[in-house]
Amino acid sequence: MVNIGCHLSAAKGYEHMGKEALDIGANTFAFFTRNPRGGKAKAIDEEDARRLRLLLEEHNFGKLVAHAPYTLNPCSKDEKVRNFAYIAMSEDMERMEYTPGNYYNFHPGSHVGQGVEKGIEMIAGLLNRILTPRQSTIVLLETMAGKGSEIGGKFEELAAIIDKVEQKDKIGVCMDTCHISDGGYDIIHDLDGVLEEFDRVVGLSKLRAVHINDSLNPVGSHKDRHAKIGEGHLGTETIVKVITHPKLKHLPFILETPNELPGYAAEIRMLRKAAEK
Ligand SMILES: [Zn+2]
Repeated sequence: MVNIGCHLSAAKGYEHMGKEALDIGANTFAFFTRNPRGGKAKAIDEEDARRLRLLLEEHNFGKLVAHAPYTLNPCSKDEKVRNFAYIAMSEDMERMEYTPGNYYNFHPGSHVGQGVEKGIEMIAGLLNRILTPRQSTIVLLETMAGKGSEIGGKFEELAAIIDKVEQKDKIGVCMDTCHISDGGYDIIHDLDGVLEEFDRVVGLSKLRAVHINDSLNPVGSHKDRHAKIGEGHLGTETIVKVITHPKLKHLPFILETPNELPGYAAEIRMLRKAAEK
């Protein structure tokens, strides 16, 4: 069975997310480790986290894909912003151990005019400060749309970051279908070719999760505007090809479409049905 889910709110606790996932037919999910716009994280209730771990095991969930706050920019010009990235990510690595063995996804960052090379240097530098051989979490770099000075819009940039990371077994990639299409990778007409290119540049063994989103804009637009599945340029057919592709189908698929829970439930139902055909 394909592992599919969506972003859920952690506001009502960890076990609550697990129950909500079950309610909407999900067997994986994403959640923000703290307020997505930044700020201090709420303490984790150990008993609540334990109940979630039991629920995940009992219902055979796939890997979870936690998400770092959007405001985190390890390659900002501003030292305060870079410092927040370090503090938030190192705290999050500890927090993730309450749900061990899962993924933690982040947007690599924007170099804001300092240049791609410098940006890559700073991102890898941060990862080398926070990743330890003891942690059970794998940190994922998200593929980006290449908007503004965003790093990660090209597979080569992700490969260059990974190349500089010391703890190679603690780092992976999360592919976002909207972002890679916006970044210029034509998964509508040549998904196989794009995956071959990813394999050549980064290595498919590094690919650990997929964000499944339709895109409001055509391939190469560098916009990053998510659409509901079937309401964008990618279309349902492309997304179904992604979740059933022999090289991808074992991965956790996370919806980040503009939906409330009933909309997510409907997309999950539709995609499961399509994947079984
Ligand atoms: Zn995404």
